[in-house]
Amino acid sequence: MSFNIMFLRKTVNVRNTLNRLPFNLNTNSILKYSINSSNHYDVVIAGGGMVGTTLACTLGKNTKFSDRRILLLESGKKFKWQLKEQYSNRVSALNPSTYNLLDRVGAWKHITDVRYGSVKRMQVWDALSDAMITFNHDELSEMVAYIVENDVLLAAVGKELEQLQNVTTINEAKIKEYQLPKKHEDTSTINMEDGTTYTCNVLLGCDGANSLVRKTMGVHYVSWNYNQKGIVATVKLSEDTENVVAWQRFLPTGPVALLPLTNKLSSLVWSTTTEHAKTLLGLSEEQFVDALNEAIWKTHQQNSMVTEAMKTFNKCLDFIQLPSSAVRQLPPSISGVEPGSRAAFPLGFGHASNYITKGVALVGDAAHRVHPLAGQGVNLGFGDVNTLDRILGEAIYSGSSLGSLNYLKQYESERQQHNVPTMLAIDGLHKLYNTEFTPVVILRSLGLQFTHALNPLKKAIIQHAAQ
Ligand SMILES: Cc1cc2nc3c(=O)[nH]c(=O)nc-3n(C[C@H](O)[C@H](O)[C@H](O)COP(=O)(O)OP(=O)(O)OC[C@H]3O[C@@H](n4cnc5c(N)ncnc54)[C@H](O)[C@@H]3O)c2cc1C
Repeated sequence: MSFNIMFLRKTVNVRNTLNRLPFNLNTNSILKYSINSSNHYDVVIAGGGMVGTTLACTLGKNTKFSDRRILLLESGKKFKWQLKEQYSNRVSALNPSTYNLLDRVGAWKHITDVRYGSVKRMQVWDALSDAMITFNHDELSEMVAYIVENDVLLAAVGKELEQLQNVTTINEAKIKEYQLPKKHEDTSTINMEDGTTYTCNVLLGCDGANSLVRKTMGVHYVSWNYNQKGIVATVKLSEDTENVVAWQRFLPTGPVALLPLTNKLSSLVWSTTTEHAKTLLGLSEEQFVDALNEAIWKTHQQNSMVTEAMKTFNKCLDFIQLPSSAVRQLPPSISGVEPGSRAAFPLGFGHASNYITKGVALVGDAAHRVHPLAGQGVNLGFGDVNTLDRILGEAIYSGSSLGSLNYLKQYESERQQHNVPTMLAIDGLHKLYNTEFTPVVILRSLGLQFTHALNPLKKAIIQHAAQ
């Protein structure tokens, strides 16, 4: 409201000044120009979630953008973060590449000032066989992952963002529609519900899985629901311990994962069928803790064919002197759940066949959505941010338009080369572990055991996931 009043006053002042000039000018066309130029931005970012906010900060800090204007439009209220004693139930496992990005934009130091968990080891195992894989930070020469609350991340990036002169953020922005550049046009127009209009050279859609930018682009979008929900909660460990291991057990209904927060607390991501999720949310806290301990600990009846196949395969591995087993650590048991921390989110897959059209690019969940079983969703989005930052910087350096298809195509091609195989692997893992069919259980158990035994393969997987 106050913005509109200021804008009206400015408009009236411009008109009065023009009318007082001693020669005759077309005041309307000059007025149109002055309005358009003040509402014209080089870059408009639609959506200020973790990806959009970090993109605004990264571009804003890129020296090639120092004399450019960037506008971030977020439909949510201005985010006012306050440290609470209770951990948020929304956390992300961040890979080393995301850590480097957040460090580069100056946000990591703010995260360090607040709190985060470190994953030095990851243990993933199958409930229906003895197959298991581990990843250790000493084998990988870097931390496996960092566990950060989404709010802490947003606040940390926001702190850096508010210092940038070249980035304007508008909250509670109600976007009515986008007009994307036609054949001979170079700019996109964003019409707001309140009648304001913005134009830009490049529009970056960071508006999540239901992206309006993507829908306006009209690109083909492949998507499906997993008929699963991800239950999140903050849980208390029975014993105070050095909590640096991420645990994930594949159950026939979906994976249950514990991510370390402190020596006493872990964050839970439990993917299960929609019906089971509803039951779990309806349980008392004590019943929920019992169900969770059962999910982590219960011995499932193993098929004798699976057991035999594993024994034979392990003998073969021993024969060729590859490690057939790793030190199996016992997972923690859970003593409680933080009151009110349980929530459930629907899980699905989505991928836009094209991330770009002339003057427009999709970034983060707007372009791709994955199952959380590999903790990759937002990391893929941050990978997009890294690439887009470099490629748009190159466009400016070479004097090209920011919306140039040549540069945007490079972004699409680089990201799809990384994102598509990652997404297919995650979806494949989901399908592979979503069955009790014996031949599949044998196949996946041998595959997991083989991957564990073959260190270079294991390293290649984690290095890909870390990018
Ligand atoms: C249970 C669960 C666990 C997960 N765990 C992990 C993990 O461990 N590691 C990981 O990497 N990923 C994880 N993810 C995935 C991760 O949460 C998402 O990938 C990430 O939140 C996507 O961020 P984004 O900024 O692209 O989209 P969003 O978070 O959806 O943000 C989109 C933003 O755009 C705004 N917006 C939407 N429409 C408009 C509009 N028309 N105008 C203006 N603003 C608009 C919204 O208000 C929002 O702020 C998990 C997901 C789930 C469900």
